Amino acid sequence: MAIPFIEGWELVQTLGEGAYGEVKLAANVETQEEVAVKFINLDKEATVRDDVRKEITIHKMLKHSNIIRFYGSRTVKNVQYIFLEYACGGELFDRIEPDVGMSPALAQFYFQQLIDGVDYLHSRGVAHRDLKPENLLLDEADNLKISDFGLATVFRYQGHERVMEKCCGTLPYIAPEVVKRRPYPAQPADIWSCGIILVAMLAGELPWDEPTANCLEYIDWKLSNLIRSPWNKIENIALALLRKILQENYTKRYTIPNIRKNKWFTQNLKKVLSSRSDSLSPSDSGSMKRICSGLDQASPLPAERVDQPFSLSQPDAHTRFTESPHSSLESLKAISYSQPARPDHMMLCSQNQTQESQSSGPRLVRRLTRFFVKTNHERTVCELTRVFDCLGFSWKKNSLGLFTLRTLDRRKMPLVFKAGLVLMGENMLVDFRLSKGDGIQFKRNFVKIRKSLQPIICLTPVATVWTSIPSNINDDAAESIQCNPEQTENNV
Ligand code: ATP
Ligand code: MG
Repeated sequence: MAIPFIEGWELVQTLGEGAYGEVKLAANVETQEEVAVKFINLDKEATVRDDVRKEITIHKMLKHSNIIRFYGSRTVKNVQYIFLEYACGGELFDRIEPDVGMSPALAQFYFQQLIDGVDYLHSRGVAHRDLKPENLLLDEADNLKISDFGLATVFRYQGHERVMEKCCGTLPYIAPEVVKRRPYPAQPADIWSCGIILVAMLAGELPWDEPTANCLEYIDWKLSNLIRSPWNKIENIALALLRKILQENYTKRYTIPNIRKNKWFTQNLKKVLSSRSDSLSPSDSGSMKRICSGLDQASPLPAERVDQPFSLSQPDAHTRFTESPHSSLESLKAISYSQPARPDHMMLCSQNQTQESQSSGPRLVRRLTRFFVKTNHERTVCELTRVFDCLGFSWKKNSLGLFTLRTLDRRKMPLVFKAGLVLMGENMLVDFRLSKGDGIQFKRNFVKIRKSLQPIICLTPVATVWTSIPSNINDDAAESIQCNPEQTENNV
């Protein structure tokens, strides 16, 4: 069963986790509108309230096709809800095959959108300060959407620019001047992070742990010693651009106008590669076909994709909330906190609906970190725990059957991820998502698990019929927030 949330809205699925809480998908039972709701526990740390206020103030100002739309926010007791455009395509890092990356054409397609989004942010005087593939989301047509303004700040206000002093971000993605803890200009630091994202897309790995003299890989880069991975996987023309972006001296680093004029950035890779699109990996062939067909329509993903049951057609979020964040907010304002008026609408779809006919129902986020198995629940749990033990993960299972796995990644940084079993028709889906740590390292571990479970994995699910919202995809059940109308405050 879906979780009653706000009258007329239900929580369908956990989309991801962040530092202060979770992000869940909420669906309107009448209209099937979907919003992502970020839940932030305001008591978690002393600074959370101020941080969240800043995140909301900044995100509210932004409106661009490559930025996740902010719809509104509410505070209920000690929980802050932020209502956001739902990006059903998941995170960009899910499109990155560990140690491989993606096709240059697809990387260029995403990078161009990233630059458009960052250019817009900077034009509004906003620096993101935590650009990384986990904070870049995709909609159903593979439009890239910059999200998570938790570390964003205003660096230009009424024409006056200020320098940054705070060392923040995610270490492998941050610029050398940020680590040095001296004042630095905001824009070049975001551009550096875009360069690291481009390396991740082209090579499926990050070039270094941190851009400091402690890191041999970074020293090699500065010495132009580029014979090793990831550089040997990247063609020269892209490498030439990276050398300009990942330039230690930020006064010499490429600016956005420089990037826009660059040969790799402007060359028509779609044309070069469209003839080769048949040989692309399953993880990017769907997107590639869309690029090659001019992106007019979101074509269904290829049949061989294990996540195919989720690649349903999608109404455009912008056609639902067209005018301003406030117009969509009006509908949320009208919401009173009680049980849903129409519990029958809590079903995702009726028993007779097929995958194709579900287009009006809420869509589960598209993720590559999941697979179907041929085994029943008991046997699957048995196989999973055997593989988790073999691979050296420490794990625990909660009362809802959700596994939490912990390990250290290659950099000896903690990596926490979750695995849940979902019965879908006759098939058992094993669904993994990152909880804490680096997205690419998570993906690497997922690939290891998938490889070890190969004998029980079925590539083509036998049935794709949803009978109801699977109860265990909603690991939210236990933590469902009880809303009290008396204590509700609308802070927008
Ligand atoms: P952190 O500080 O750890 O980066 P956070 O608390 O700021 O995280 P977000 O990055 O905003 O949280 O969200 C966490 C995850 O939730 C994202 O990486 C993504 O997987 C998912 N998510 C967030 N917003 C959306 C959205 N609008 N649509 C779909 N998924 C989303
Ligand atoms: Mg984030």
